Amino acid sequence: MRSWPSVYLPPSDNSAEHPFLRLTNSYTSKMQELKDAHVASYVCGITPYDATHLGHAATYLAFDLIHRFIIASGKSLHYTQNITDIDEPLLERAKRDNQNWEELATSQIELFREDMTELRILPPNNYLGVVESMSTVISYIKALMDTGKTYELQGDIYLDIKAVQDALENLPIALGEALTIFASRGGDPDRAGKRHPLDTLIWSSKRPGEPSWSSSFGTGRPGWHIECVAIALSTLTGQTWSDPKSVTSISLQGGGSDLRFPHHYMTNVQARAITGKSFANIYLHTGMIAWQGEKMSKSLGNLVFVSKLREAGWGGNEIRLALINRDYRADLNWEMRLLDDARSTLERIHSALSREEVAPTHEVVLKIRESLADNLDVKGAISAIIDWCEQTELGITGGSAGQLSRALDLYLGIAL
Ligand code: ZN
Repeated sequence: MRSWPSVYLPPSDNSAEHPFLRLTNSYTSKMQELKDAHVASYVCGITPYDATHLGHAATYLAFDLIHRFIIASGKSLHYTQNITDIDEPLLERAKRDNQNWEELATSQIELFREDMTELRILPPNNYLGVVESMSTVISYIKALMDTGKTYELQGDIYLDIKAVQDALENLPIALGEALTIFASRGGDPDRAGKRHPLDTLIWSSKRPGEPSWSSSFGTGRPGWHIECVAIALSTLTGQTWSDPKSVTSISLQGGGSDLRFPHHYMTNVQARAITGKSFANIYLHTGMIAWQGEKMSKSLGNLVFVSKLREAGWGGNEIRLALINRDYRADLNWEMRLLDDARSTLERIHSALSREEVAPTHEVVLKIRESLADNLDVKGAISAIIDWCEQTELGITGGSAGQLSRALDLYLGIAL
């Protein structure tokens, strides 16, 4: 799938002197240092049946900050994002609106690209839809079946979770809660004939009126989690199925906190069933964005779209700052005043940067870097910049506006 245009990144001062990024692993709640010289990052993409809302934007912006820091530190980054372009919600929406599901997906992916471009988010190296990756996904399903840990139920194929070591023992939440969430996020715990309610669907046999693909194990379409296993491992580890045991773990997997369970947990379980290794070394999840007290979601219909804000005259920098200036792991109650605040902050920074003489900039750039390395503390970085504005407004001199402008662009994606 065509990605969106690449974004110019200013050069980094002293890339070797960057601290390691310290980030909280969502499953262990422990801080981990991202030390890999070659970072393989996988962030789960959209199901293209509706435009980019602020919840999506906040997630991709948080990972964009991580990616920018990795590149600024002189490390190499390989980033893959998928598109769930065949899925129940997409088919249901297309049917409801009497629209072709492929056309609906294509139009929404195009809108997503425009939003990502406007927000100056670095594009993935591999932007892959499930449909175009079908032969890879099928080969991973086959690899999983070859382990003997799957079983068939009326033509559908499930992973037997009990056959994967510690998969049930290490659930990140209590079993009762896991079953409830599993049911609400695409799972089918109550289906008769399953060996365990949390067994995940790997392959769904052809249903009347639905798109399907042929494989050596029948005609149908893949389950959700195995798609991400296949797209991530095939693009990020440089390995093929000629030797599944040689597949390594990727550096990080990310997404919104609603993907923590079951999606990312089950992705790891399925990958471990095949390779014997963890899917990723660190799992990162962003908080949900609420609007008027309720989580922004398609089912509630309370979405604020990036494209609508753009139409209303808000710029990418303003939307960007309004969404990143917070703890990325915490839920955020969206308010329009956040855009007003972002606009006035940007105006103040712009005005200070436009002066002929500015306050010293070396220290503030170090502070931006240190704050971001500390679990993406954007608030700390912005507050250092505001302190610098104050010093500049007081007439203190000795800095380089260019140096700070480049750092704002490089680390925060704000180009003034
Ligand atoms: Zn995924």
